[in-house]
Amino acid sequence: MTKYIFCTGGVVSSVGKGVTAAAIGRVLKARGLRVSIQKLDPYLNVDPGTMSPYEHGEVFVTEDGAETDLDLGHYERFTDENMVRACNVTTGQVYNEILTRERRGDFLGKTIQVVPHVTNEIKRRIGLVAKNSGADVVIVEVGGTVGDIEAMPHLEAIRQMRKDVGRDNSFYCHVTFLPLVGATGEVKTKPTQHSVRDLRGLGIRPDAIILRSDMPIDDDIREKVAMFCDVDNEAVLPMPTVSNLYEVPLALERLGFGDLICARLHLNGPAASDLSEWSALVDRVNAPKPSLEVAIVGKYVELHDAYISVREALFHAGIANDRNVEVRWVNSEALEHGEGDALLAGVGGIVVPGGFGYRGIEGKIRAAQFAREHDVPYLGLCLGMQVMCIEYARNVLKMPGANSTEFNHSTPYPIIDLMVDQRDISDMGGTMRLGVYPCHLKEGSKARAAYGQEIVQERHRHRWEFNNAFRKAFSEAGMTFSGVSPDDKLVEISELRDHIFMMGSQFHPEFKSRPNRPHPMFNAFIEACVEKAT
Ligand code: GLN
Repeated sequence: MTKYIFCTGGVVSSVGKGVTAAAIGRVLKARGLRVSIQKLDPYLNVDPGTMSPYEHGEVFVTEDGAETDLDLGHYERFTDENMVRACNVTTGQVYNEILTRERRGDFLGKTIQVVPHVTNEIKRRIGLVAKNSGADVVIVEVGGTVGDIEAMPHLEAIRQMRKDVGRDNSFYCHVTFLPLVGATGEVKTKPTQHSVRDLRGLGIRPDAIILRSDMPIDDDIREKVAMFCDVDNEAVLPMPTVSNLYEVPLALERLGFGDLICARLHLNGPAASDLSEWSALVDRVNAPKPSLEVAIVGKYVELHDAYISVREALFHAGIANDRNVEVRWVNSEALEHGEGDALLAGVGGIVVPGGFGYRGIEGKIRAAQFAREHDVPYLGLCLGMQVMCIEYARNVLKMPGANSTEFNHSTPYPIIDLMVDQRDISDMGGTMRLGVYPCHLKEGSKARAAYGQEIVQERHRHRWEFNNAFRKAFSEAGMTFSGVSPDDKLVEISELRDHIFMMGSQFHPEFKSRPNRPHPMFNAFIEACVEKAT
């Protein structure tokens, strides 16, 4: 029988519910349990693929090509398990499904209602994760906070789940926030009490409450919450903000949360918790090390969550190379005006991540030129590879006006062009080249050396590609197409031969990086940055 842990949020959002769910996953995995995690998002979009990163942060792409919430990135990094499409459910998907069936006539004669039709569809989708993953424990994170109108059907669905699967197989964990009131210097529990009351009003009684706070939380506070919210003392877990997210599983384990969950869910007999590898990782993160400044040049840099997997992947490669990677966030539009290169002066390496649309492109091209001309290590991710090629065309191959047809339909040199099978697509949602595809690495290239493998599988999310008509000119001038699709039709990686490290990939390597297993391309990039600096 699958066990379910439902994570809800109270008081305010963005306090780390996703990281908490991911960390619980790691704690249970460390006991030899198989874990999967699902996010229920209350918004009406079918997926976040069509939303601006300003609205939603990064769009995380799974192996099977789903465009999902960035919390799935936390789930993968913490549990080291690949999530699948079913791990992210939105209200949009639920209604889409129900309305398609209604038009087909599946409900003939019936009135369709939130209860039971919408809630049943949500429960069916929760069940799918359990069925497909074969996990012992499925952790279900409900997006938003209790009290949001949109989250009501999700909360009702998880309430019903206790009846469906039984008390011994369901566990409700409520994550709240304790604000600090400046005048008294105290953290306040009242908003938590109110949110638990709201949750109870919906028929859900939390089995545990996780108290997030920017301040230390003493035993008095813990006992007060336990008393007012009718939860055992040991089921109230203080979780003050940590400087390093990867400490959260250790903190949960130290507080006895693994034992508590296993006792409540009658998870008898799992091997004793083994977080030794994880704790060695945390020690490596916390050990003092020289810092290395890397620029991320993008147009959403004010919102760091827009590039969260890129930032984490850099950080992971830093740990492996004994460097503390510090990100210099560079707005690509600012590179286009006046100050220009000064914004990049002194950085140890430059990353141009993925993106869409023309805004900020000229600045990214400028960043690629700066890296090439100053022999500064450069890593281009998807769009970052495309701008690296455009820059090379314009400034080395002397092709004025070279561009991607995404930005200029009538460029004389369409270095980057729409993929053939994208040409007749008009729908915007879920229609890019998405998910994992194989890539063949060329013998003797830097990419091949980095991976130490001939065929690799990487995750994609793009419509445009390198135009093969220009391959010859580029190769002759000094660019190697070191990764291609197995049929050789699609450029997957390009790199400069005469440069310390200038590499771009059409795929997104950042999604596969893990804290204890940095991605080979990021690793090679950071190695080059270290080499350059010494
Ligand atoms: N806009 C580019 C394309 O669609 C790059 C996409 C990306 O960086 N993910 O090909």
